[in-house]
Amino acid sequence: MRQRFQILSDPRFRLVYNETRSFIDGPAPKKVRLNRENFNLVDGVKKKTKVYPGMLLATHPSIDKGDLHSPMYGEITEINHRSIFIDAVDQEGIEGQVEPIDVLAEGKEGEELILQMKQMGVNTKSLGQEVDTLIINGLNPDPGVTWAEPMLTQNGHNLHAGIELHKRLARAKHIVLAVPKGMHVSYDNIDVVCVEPEYPKSVNALLVKEVTGKENPEGVGAVGLHNIWSLGRVGVTGLPLMETVITIGSQTKWANYIVKNGMWIGQLLEYAGIELRDGDIISRGGPLRGECLDRLDRSITKGTTGLFVVESGTVPPMEGHSPCINCGACVQVCPAHLNPSTLSRYAEFANYNACLAEHSTHCLECGLCGYVCIARRPVLQYIRLANAKIKEMQEFVWEENK
Ligand code: SF4
Ligand code: SF4
Repeated sequence: MRQRFQILSDPRFRLVYNETRSFIDGPAPKKVRLNRENFNLVDGVKKKTKVYPGMLLATHPSIDKGDLHSPMYGEITEINHRSIFIDAVDQEGIEGQVEPIDVLAEGKEGEELILQMKQMGVNTKSLGQEVDTLIINGLNPDPGVTWAEPMLTQNGHNLHAGIELHKRLARAKHIVLAVPKGMHVSYDNIDVVCVEPEYPKSVNALLVKEVTGKENPEGVGAVGLHNIWSLGRVGVTGLPLMETVITIGSQTKWANYIVKNGMWIGQLLEYAGIELRDGDIISRGGPLRGECLDRLDRSITKGTTGLFVVESGTVPPMEGHSPCINCGACVQVCPAHLNPSTLSRYAEFANYNACLAEHSTHCLECGLCGYVCIARRPVLQYIRLANAKIKEMQEFVWEENK
């Protein structure tokens, strides 16, 4: 418990930044790389196809996974099973454009609206939960991410559109908006509750506990503010979702940007004026829950929330094969009551069945275990690997038994 207390009182875990600046429009992409894993290409989409903003490129077989659209004028330069690569070209000579749809005025609801949002590129898995009470998570997801305040207080038009659409597609009887303590906002027919903005309370399962006072209560779910923003973006523009809001930052410089899906991180860091030096680490997502990237031609997706440079010398890097010294810090800090040390060792030696037996799939991916690990073991990354392998094994068994 003592370790937990020390973390929660660490000022670096505060989730409020009093950010007052508006979102900055990101750069026009020079190249994009779109993730198309498990998507089906639309007929006629191939190498050298000329594309325009909002053009449908691929559909996903799942009803709650948004389809894929081109974010710009360009030409497809390569397609493989994982990605579609597009280079920007002059729009002259490219025929075709997408007509905006006034989805708010159309008044669709439930399944019909879920299908329309999917076709417009929105992932609706968390938005269409069948629960009695749905909590909109209005906290910044990770320390260092700062878009929640401007999203709540300055982008009212977008947020109102998102909440309105969400009310029409969610089956929840009761919607609650959780915001940082001290923030005063109000929305029609939505209860607003204030929560102490300290990490890891922004992790959905822990926010639910904070708001209801119960662990995993029946009939209660949570959805991120970022998802509501995406929904609102489609409502306001009438166009397919082609962008995301991310915090781009380093220790000395940060701001919030609206950037196109698939943009290369190298171009984004250059635009934000962040220079990389030897030994710097790039993290996509939040500093605690994000994933490290090894190349500047990696890209962001519609769900990316942040892009961070951890300067060399500021945080000791993870050591993949560093042995566990059994200090127990990760066990004390784990909010899911797991044993991250044991799980990471099972995963390290590919004993994924043992991980499953020890409930690795209950991991909330908060990243605290790796943060406190004095041996610098990539504990969360091991657990993520194990859970990905478990999912693969379960899908294989399911396919075999079909
Ligand atoms: S990442 Fe998972 S295992 Fe690690 S502390 Fe968080 S919940 Fe526990
Ligand atoms: S914090 Fe690191 S060294 Fe300590 S028990 Fe956990 S995995 Fe092992």
